[in-house]
Amino acid sequence: MIWLARIWAAVRKVVSRWFETELRTYRVEGDTLPKYIRPNQLIHLVDDGESWSAAFMCPCGCGDVLEVALIKDARQSWTLSVDTENRPTLHPSIWRTTGCRSHFWIRKGHIHWCGKTG
Ligand SMILES: [Zn+2]
Repeated sequence: MIWLARIWAAVRKVVSRWFETELRTYRVEGDTLPKYIRPNQLIHLVDDGESWSAAFMCPCGCGDVLEVALIKDARQSWTLSVDTENRPTLHPSIWRTTGCRSHFWIRKGHIHWCGKTG
């Protein structure tokens, strides 16, 4: 029944792609972001071997793409760590001063909201 297991694995792969709520880190070489970012993707831009930035869809669902700097000499920079399951942790928290004004942490691929009501 190897074929059945293969089909099941393929189905699970497709389904999890749509229902996955945990963020996964995708390393992208260069300085340009992909055209489309899935809600469960965190793009880790690496240019010349140096972590450049991290980009992801705003978890509130407003549709904005958020990009934070990872380079140390940026005025405001974040630290990205990725665990063995490719789940990202960002430090410090993300606090948008424009748009939806979301304030949240990303820890091990999960969104932790900070005092946002409603
Ligand atoms: Zn938002």
